[in-house]
Amino acid sequence: MQNGKTALVTGAGRGIGKAIAVRLAAAGYFVIVNYNGSREAAEQVVEEIRSAGGEAEAMQCNVSSYSDAEQMINAIVEKHGSIDVLVNNAGITRDTLLMRMSEDDFDQVLSTNLKGAFNCTKFATKYMMKKRFGRIINISSVSGVMGNAGQANYSASKAGIIGLTKAVARELAGRNITANAIAPGFIDTDMTAVLGDNIKEKVTETIPMKHFGKPEDIAETAAFLASDGASYITGQVIAVDGGMSM
Ligand code: NAP
Repeated sequence: MQNGKTALVTGAGRGIGKAIAVRLAAAGYFVIVNYNGSREAAEQVVEEIRSAGGEAEAMQCNVSSYSDAEQMINAIVEKHGSIDVLVNNAGITRDTLLMRMSEDDFDQVLSTNLKGAFNCTKFATKYMMKKRFGRIINISSVSGVMGNAGQANYSASKAGIIGLTKAVARELAGRNITANAIAPGFIDTDMTAVLGDNIKEKVTETIPMKHFGKPEDIAETAAFLASDGASYITGQVIAVDGGMSM
């Protein structure tokens, strides 16, 4: 059953974004499956959603571009009438120790992870304010909460996401727009597949639940934050991390 609302999930061709897109479509949203480079993967996600009875469309956009993000969001509203849920999920890593981290490593990560979220939030909230309804869900990370060696750029971007979330929550609460962040721990996706077995073992030891999470664990929390049941929750950071950050 469709619910008449439109949700944009950035970076939804794979990993956590894909799981969120599939879960929101199952909850009745028309889902915009945004991708940057992974066109085929995004189209497959759309197929998967449609064959399960949901509605979705793939849309290319590099969210770190201010003007491209504006174009994407205007196109969504033109076509679908509204943007009700925005999930800022697109993210990259360029891990290395601070000593070796280049200016480009820093700029690229901040530009995608933090500026990308700013860009989409800025243009989506213009329409959410008019409608006096909106749900913004930002994907932060345990690294933004606790810090992580080898991730000065990524941790800064994910801590920045938390500040962005809280500022937006305060600015827009009066317009019935909520903004919350999810801080995943280590989740099984392409992003963590590149970690060596040695690092994976060491990380697992620090997780009270002793295993990595699944993209669906994050999707379930995102679906709750988008739902009517979460209408009085704003400005929060919800850890979904097997107890890692407590
Ligand atoms: P992933 O499998 O590497 O997927 C990253 C996604 O981001 C891809 O769909 C990619 O799209 C998209 N993306 C990257 N740059 C983009 C850009 N400029 N514009 C639009 N989309 C872009 O990563 P993941 O593990 O699912 O991570 C998803 C989010 O969760 C990220 O924000 C990540 O930081 C966060 N997170 C992940 C973990 C974890 O353990 N996996 C933990 C904490 C937080 P294309 O393939 O089309 O480029």
